[in-house]
Amino acid sequence: MSKRLTHQQAMRYNRQIVLPKIDLEGQEALLNAHAIIIGVGGLGTAAATSLCSSGVGKITLIDFDNVEETNLHRQTLFSEDDIGRSKAHAAKARLAALNSDCEIAVVDNAFSSEHEALIASADVVLDCTDNTHSRDSINTLCFRMGTPLVSGAAIRFEGQLFVAIPGKSRCYGCLRTLFEAPDLSCVEAGIFSPMVNMIGTYQAMLAMQVLMEFDDLPLNKLITFDGLRHEWQQWALPNTLSCELCATD
Ligand SMILES: [Zn+2]
Repeated sequence: MSKRLTHQQAMRYNRQIVLPKIDLEGQEALLNAHAIIIGVGGLGTAAATSLCSSGVGKITLIDFDNVEETNLHRQTLFSEDDIGRSKAHAAKARLAALNSDCEIAVVDNAFSSEHEALIASADVVLDCTDNTHSRDSINTLCFRMGTPLVSGAAIRFEGQLFVAIPGKSRCYGCLRTLFEAPDLSCVEAGIFSPMVNMIGTYQAMLAMQVLMEFDDLPLNKLITFDGLRHEWQQWALPNTLSCELCATD
């Protein structure tokens, strides 16, 4: 049975509920939603903070890594005391203090095809990883389980976002047929701190729009941001485009 907002929750989220596009119905959709965040780094911590404070009912954090000193300039959910701790568990402690209404689950091992049932149980998945191998396997599982996917990436002064809704839009694999991106990481290429926080927060916004079924999601489009020119752009995927996954559907 779906949960209803308590009086206290309705007061807490009032500034969001007064938005006509959200209203009580949208806020209750968030309360009953389960979002999975894969990768609790710069993107993942920014997305988790926004989803948790906004009133999403359950968040599962998946990451096998520990907090390092070089993470702190951009992964603002962590503090110096967290160095050496599991990212997923350290993030859970911070998020629990931020909003006790939000149930936080932790999977402190690497994402794999064994997470099929978990992906199937979620209302939305946020891909906050930093390598193409993980991105491809997350896309495949989301596509097969019919779970909406919000993918984000940030490097140097550049960011990009892509939303895939199985049955309604092309998948992330379709986008990848256009861009065989080199597997650069923040270690080699560098990352400007505000960039990764901005893109992670944008992922949270798109995920909440998926959960509340806003009518104007940017489907079949790649969104990019150039932080040096301060330019957002949308790139429509060609209609003829189809990846192996979509082609066999
Ligand atoms: Zn596809």
